[in-house]
Amino acid sequence: MTQRLILASNNAGKLKEFNQLLATVGYSVHAQGEYDVPEADEPFHTFVENALQKARHAARITGLPALADDSGVCINAFGGAPGVYSARFAGEPKSDARNNEKMVADLAAHTDRSAYYYCVLVFVRHADDPQPIIADGRWNGEMLDAPRGTGGFGYDPYFYIPALGKCAAELTSDEKNALSHRGQALRALVEKLK
Ligand code: IMP
Repeated sequence: MTQRLILASNNAGKLKEFNQLLATVGYSVHAQGEYDVPEADEPFHTFVENALQKARHAARITGLPALADDSGVCINAFGGAPGVYSARFAGEPKSDARNNEKMVADLAAHTDRSAYYYCVLVFVRHADDPQPIIADGRWNGEMLDAPRGTGGFGYDPYFYIPALGKCAAELTSDEKNALSHRGQALRALVEKLK
C-alpha cells in the first residue's frame, strides 16, 4: 500500500526527484502547498534544526508523515559561510545573482577556494516523532570567479568539480542528481527507510 508523505517544500523539481526514489519504499510524495501548509520559519543556525522544524510543522498541520530538506554552500575560506544562510547571503530579497556577486567579491582576497554543498533530510512519522530519521550528503568542489554553464540554480555556475572539469551548471539534471549533496542524502534516506 502506498503511504502519503508531505514534502515541506513547494519546489516542483525536488518533488519529482523525491517521488521517484521514495516510490521504491512505498511513499507518494505531495507538496505541502497541496495541503495549504504555509512555509515554516527557519530561525536556527544549523541545517538539521531548520529541517526538523519544517518537517514537524508540515506533519502537525497535515496529520501525515513529512519530509524536509535544508541545504546550502559552505565555503572553507569563510569558515563554512554562507551555510544555512546561502539563500540570503547578499540580504533580502533573495537573489542568486547578488549572492554570487558577493561570493566572488569576498573570495577575491583568498587563495583557498574549496567549498562544499551540504544537504540534510529529516523524516518524521508524525509531528512529535521522538526518533526522526536523518540523512545527509556532502558534495566537494571549488568556487570559480566567473560563471560557467546554464543548468542548475543558485551557486551552480560557480561550483566547479575538478574531477569532472565542469561546473554543476554544466551537468544534466541526472548527472547532478547522481553526485549532488541532495541526491546522496536522498539515497541514504531511502536506505534507512527500507
Ligand atoms: P534550499 O535548502 O533548497 O532552500 O537551498 C538553500 C540555498 O542553498 C539555495 O537558495 C542556494 O542558494 C543554495 N543551494 C542549495 N543547494 C544548491 C544546489 O544544488 N545548487 C546551487 N545552490 C544550492
